[in-house]
Amino acid sequence: MRIVVIGAGVVGLACARALVHDGHAVRVVERALAGDRTSFGNAGGLAVSEIAPASAPGLWKNVPRWLVDPLGPLSIRPGHALRLLPWLRRFLASGTPAEIARISAANAALNRRVYDDILPLLADVGLSGDLRRDGALTLYESEEGFEAERTDWERRAAHGFPHEVLSREEARAMEPALSPRIARAVFDPAWGIVADPRRIVEGLEAWLRAKEVAFHEAEAVAIEPKLDRVSVALGDGTTGDADLVVVAAGAWSARLAASVGDPVLLESERGYNVTIPRPNIALARQLVFAERKFVATPLAPGLRIGGAAEFAGLDAPARLDRADALARLARVYLRDLDTRGGTRWMGQRPSTPDGLPVIGWSPGKGRVIYAFGHGHLGLTQAATTGRLVAGLLTGDTAGVDMTPYAISRFAR
Ligand SMILES: Cc1cc2nc3c(=O)[nH]c(=O)nc-3n(C[C@H](O)[C@H](O)[C@H](O)COP(=O)(O)OP(=O)(O)OC[C@H]3O[C@@H](n4cnc5c(N)ncnc54)[C@H](O)[C@@H]3O)c2cc1C
Repeated sequence: MRIVVIGAGVVGLACARALVHDGHAVRVVERALAGDRTSFGNAGGLAVSEIAPASAPGLWKNVPRWLVDPLGPLSIRPGHALRLLPWLRRFLASGTPAEIARISAANAALNRRVYDDILPLLADVGLSGDLRRDGALTLYESEEGFEAERTDWERRAAHGFPHEVLSREEARAMEPALSPRIARAVFDPAWGIVADPRRIVEGLEAWLRAKEVAFHEAEAVAIEPKLDRVSVALGDGTTGDADLVVVAAGAWSARLAASVGDPVLLESERGYNVTIPRPNIALARQLVFAERKFVATPLAPGLRIGGAAEFAGLDAPARLDRADALARLARVYLRDLDTRGGTRWMGQRPSTPDGLPVIGWSPGKGRVIYAFGHGHLGLTQAATTGRLVAGLLTGDTAGVDMTPYAISRFAR
């Protein structure tokens, strides 16, 4: 088939790769080939055991405290609050025990496949050596903090992701850079990290170009499925035809889905980080600071400290002082950390309210496949999404029931 993939982030390129493997003629439409991408600057974690939605019973008790704290993990820009309401309503509805169970099972079905799918991808692009499977350490400042997440850890174990609860001393023996401010830790052996998420995107692009995949620099503005083909209207006034379009435009995908007639609740959930080339400390694995909701990851470009969830819409300017705030916060837990010389960054997570990606056909249209909305897990789930998108064309989705990821869940 002649297939157009819209979006050259890690998800779009992983889809393009899987489709090329299956013998399709693929073109990629990307509006800014030299621009930044969310897929470039993320934390590099393969967070395979992260399966529950962010919404949880009792979460909202913390929200007022977070919103007034300039170092806090959550921020909603006042000008965006009203527009966020439908998404927030659905977010809250995803926090019931029954929904958490359903959503966790659906994310686990994807995440159990992650290494099976990403290992061949890394081999293709010559980056097998970029993967480190040393697990992750989640750190709690208080016993209460750990107790509040005990059920979550038990749920992960029930889905095939076991863990080990550690004392402060055991955690510090594994990561000597940690300050004693830790009450408990949980070691999760399943997590991995890549050396540099940007390298994977660039590697995929180079691999695809070598396979004669054309990259067209243009903004897709609308998609029109027809009986015998699908047309993509581009910002430069031209139109491209294909047999099939894959929408993988990250946080910008909702407008394209709307042009097809498929409503979706998708928000840009901005995250910030700072990458420090000479941090003066060494970490062996990714650290997750549970109560403060940020992570520290040892990557090839340096130690990356990042997190935060900011809802401000797609076009608001970045507030890079949030990245500085995270670096300051990290020094509480990593006392010898030298934060000088860091590079600040903001990226827009494509977040659905239920914490599940949108992967599947446009209902009734037959010529459009969606692959977006991976939120905090876009790198983790990219190769698997590519595998499943290609599988939708052959009818082989590796035994994964695709129902929970359907865009039709937003039509209600
Ligand atoms: C601070 C932070 C830390 C993170 N850490 C992790 C992590 O450790 N592990 C993990 O798995 N995930 C992590 N994520 C999430 C992950 O980065 C994203 O889920 C992932 O990058 C999304 O990839 P994507 O390809 O869907 O989107 P993007 O990378 O945003 O790519 C979408 C592309 O589509 C293009 N585009 C958009 N609209 C159009 C259009 N109309 N026409 C043409 N092109 C268009 C854009 O220019 C862009 O290049 C993190 C995110 C942030 C912000």
